[in-house]
Amino acid sequence: MKTYMPSKFLVERDPERCIQCQVCVNQCSFDTHYYDAEDDVVMSREENCVGCHRCVLFCPTKALTIKRHPLEYRENYNWTPEAIEDIIRQAETGGMLLTGMGDDKPHRIYWDHLVLNASQVTNPSIDPLREPMELTTYIGRKPDRVEIDQKTCALKTELAPQVQLDVPVMFAGMSYGAISLNAHESLARAATEMGTLWNTGEGGLHSSLYKYGHNTIVQVASGRFGVQPSYLDIARVIEIKIGQGAKPGIGGHLPGEKVSAEVSLTRMIPKGTDALSPAPQHDIYSIEDLSQLIYALKEATNYTKPISVKIAAVHNSAAIASGMVRAGADIIVLDGLRGATGAAPKIIRDNVGIPIELALASVDSRLRKEGIRNRASLVISGGIRNSGDVTKAIALGADAVYIGTAALIALGCTVCQQCHTGKCAWGICTTNLSLTKRINPDIGARRLSNLLRGWSLEIKDMLGGMGINALESLRGNRLHLRGIGLTDTELEILGVNMAGA
Ligand code: SF4
Ligand code: SF4
Repeated sequence: MKTYMPSKFLVERDPERCIQCQVCVNQCSFDTHYYDAEDDVVMSREENCVGCHRCVLFCPTKALTIKRHPLEYRENYNWTPEAIEDIIRQAETGGMLLTGMGDDKPHRIYWDHLVLNASQVTNPSIDPLREPMELTTYIGRKPDRVEIDQKTCALKTELAPQVQLDVPVMFAGMSYGAISLNAHESLARAATEMGTLWNTGEGGLHSSLYKYGHNTIVQVASGRFGVQPSYLDIARVIEIKIGQGAKPGIGGHLPGEKVSAEVSLTRMIPKGTDALSPAPQHDIYSIEDLSQLIYALKEATNYTKPISVKIAAVHNSAAIASGMVRAGADIIVLDGLRGATGAAPKIIRDNVGIPIELALASVDSRLRKEGIRNRASLVISGGIRNSGDVTKAIALGADAVYIGTAALIALGCTVCQQCHTGKCAWGICTTNLSLTKRINPDIGARRLSNLLRGWSLEIKDMLGGMGINALESLRGNRLHLRGIGLTDTELEILGVNMAGA
């Protein structure tokens, strides 16, 4: 069938600069560039271009420019180019529209409407270059009260397992199969170097990465891929995944083409078969069921590691989170509307779920009101872009954050949203061996560690500016936040005052 789908990008090649080296032909995994031997010239099929910019960066003579296609539809507030093109794609395929990454619609980003405080005159700021600053965070269940032996000053209260994080930023669950083994290894090594945790996602843990178990969170999701005793034993934290922000309420689907020999071994499914994660966990239909699974996992690992439960941020997150804490979860993970994925139906990604900032504030407030906030750590994810977002999240009530897209950008991702095609030109969201080689785990780990190092320095600077020398003093301290351009209702949900008040 002839396509009515216009090209999204223009590929411009400067003939004065192009030396026909064909680097672009080799680098583009979407078959945009090709060599015409008859005319000895490199040409482009621009309708294939997804705007990932790989060829532009690798062209040795800087001969290439990728631009948005200037095709203008007649102006129409209702029928935007995106709305028209989605209909064209469905008229041609008859299928659901799939996409990668997170919601890209202009929903309000509340982080940008919150500002942090700084000391002036009445309480001095602290210079992090001259004075020690503490970012250490312990995640896991905290006791209601602690008892100290009066004679020895030793702690008498038995603590639930705690995990120490040197930075309050962890790498979010991204499964092997959805992302490459080299990307997994980069995350595992960076987490180990920086004293934090990375998360396997729901696809199991490749045997070569078991050595990073001390810094690994393993997921138990609805498909139970790769779940076996050694997988649970090796982990530092076990995370029960109920839902994720990019596609709340629905399951997952890793197409058979991405289930290579290694992925099939790790997931414990036949090679080349579709890996389908059911929408619900079939053993969880109530809070009591969740409690049974939490305690089954605690029992299976001799009560040595915290059990985390991850849900998508949805309308009743606060009540759900309260139930999860009472069910025995040691860590609650909330994944917001802008949370990313390797593949999701576009209609779900862009229309289901709530912004993480609102979910975080309401869950933290509810758990405090019920007097159970200490019983679980609160970890959030879904569109965290920089250390400012992290610092505001801590002030709003989070113990730590997960980053997914930001980590992939550090590895080279340009957010082209083509993860679901398995053709990622940057070697991240693919299991094609010729593409996965594009990530060198030595370099990947260094880039990720650098990102966390940079953010740590910035968080310390922001803390110092507020006159605070430990992250612990900022946690849930919303007096250090003010809102700008928000309605009274939004300010009330966020629990912050308007700037100037
Ligand atoms: S898809 Fe990426 S590598 Fe291919 S032409 Fe477009 S920008 Fe270049
Ligand atoms: S991971 Fe790869 S395919 Fe996915 S958005 Fe990033 S560059 Fe594109």
